[in-house]
Amino acid sequence: MYDVAVIGAGVNGCAVSYYLKQNGKQVALFDREAIGAGGSGAAGAFISPKFSKSGELKELMEKAYPFALEFYSKNFPACIKNAPLLHIAKDEDEAKKLIAFKENTTLDIGTPPLQVIQILTASAQECENVYVLKGGVVDAKGVCNQMTEGIDFFNFEVSSLTCKDGYYEIGDIKAKEVILAYGAYEPLVDEPYINLRGIWGHRIDIGTSTRTEVTMHHHVSISKCEEGLMAIGATHDVHYHPQKNKEPYDIEKGRKELLEKANLTIELKDVEILADYTGLRCGSNDYMPLVGKIVESKNSDKEISYYPNLTMINGVGGYGFVMAPYIAKKLCEHIVEGKEIDESIAPVRFYKRYMKRQQGKKR
Ligand SMILES: Cc1cc2nc3c(=O)[nH]c(=O)nc-3n(C[C@H](O)[C@H](O)[C@H](O)COP(=O)(O)OP(=O)(O)OC[C@H]3O[C@@H](n4cnc5c(N)ncnc54)[C@H](O)[C@@H]3O)c2cc1C
Repeated sequence: MYDVAVIGAGVNGCAVSYYLKQNGKQVALFDREAIGAGGSGAAGAFISPKFSKSGELKELMEKAYPFALEFYSKNFPACIKNAPLLHIAKDEDEAKKLIAFKENTTLDIGTPPLQVIQILTASAQECENVYVLKGGVVDAKGVCNQMTEGIDFFNFEVSSLTCKDGYYEIGDIKAKEVILAYGAYEPLVDEPYINLRGIWGHRIDIGTSTRTEVTMHHHVSISKCEEGLMAIGATHDVHYHPQKNKEPYDIEKGRKELLEKANLTIELKDVEILADYTGLRCGSNDYMPLVGKIVESKNSDKEISYYPNLTMINGVGGYGFVMAPYIAKKLCEHIVEGKEIDESIAPVRFYKRYMKRQQGKKR
């Protein structure tokens, strides 16, 4: 009997498995593809914050972002390349956000050195920017594999969940608790208040003679490039979905978009496409993750009732590698020590909003 079964071996499933193992739990990790497949396998895995003016997402980012940098650097140093991050506003609205952000942030920010600015295109040089002194790019698959070393992995598609006599059965495996970490795939628990959606993304690795010492975010993200290999990503395509669209994804169109956007920031010379990566991010309506107990709505008439020993970790959108270490630790503390998870990231917030809407409709 395992203590915990984790369904989905993307960065969220791997990070929570890592923490549970560190806390002495026996973990069974399931994925129908492989460790670090799914959206995680496609990610450029840039560790950079979302620059919001204020609010819960900003608060979460200011904790999760430095936490992630330290987590990868300390535990998996071979999987992270550190580099400062230059974030350039892509329009007026973003410029306002960056100005507000700079006035009120706990992150270590500075002024970009001249040699960094000089390689930008003339129009990019004129834009408002934030220079974050500590940033990084993670080897997505490598870190997922390292986080799950020593954990029992089952290459298996979980098609249903059955809980009886206080434990779950998944194929031949029994576990006391289950964590759902399946990203933007078919849900195993279908609840009307959980509205996660898949957002298709494409990124590329290129060979180029252009050099940059920093990671840049402008219209797209561009990795530091000292030895000729540069990662560029990613597109955000809300219209394409691999399971729903009949026509195949147009890879040439994606490449063209990425290169055009990157060239708005720096001029790329001698470009050769080396690899394409595509996948789905999984985002929530308020851009915050969903971590913790899952409300069973059909049994929640008078008071809120939760599925027994069932939790989730999902909805991290385009920031999975930034958020996963922090939120996985929170979920582990909840499971191991019974610590409450803040409602701003718990699924129950969506249940409450859903019930309010339902009651409004009845009136
Ligand atoms: C192109 C692209 C670029 C990105 N760039 C960045 C970036 O630079 N920085 C960043 O922080 N984030 C980035 N992201 C986002 C990041 O990749 C995601 O937020 C993250 O991968 C989500 O991880 P996850 O574990 O929730 O889901 P996933 O990685 O999608 O993992 C879910 C796993 O569950 C498995 N699964 C699903 N259903 C079942 C089932 N029934 N049984 C068994 N297994 C199942 C799937 O096979 C999959 O492996 C990017 C995403 C994309 C697509």
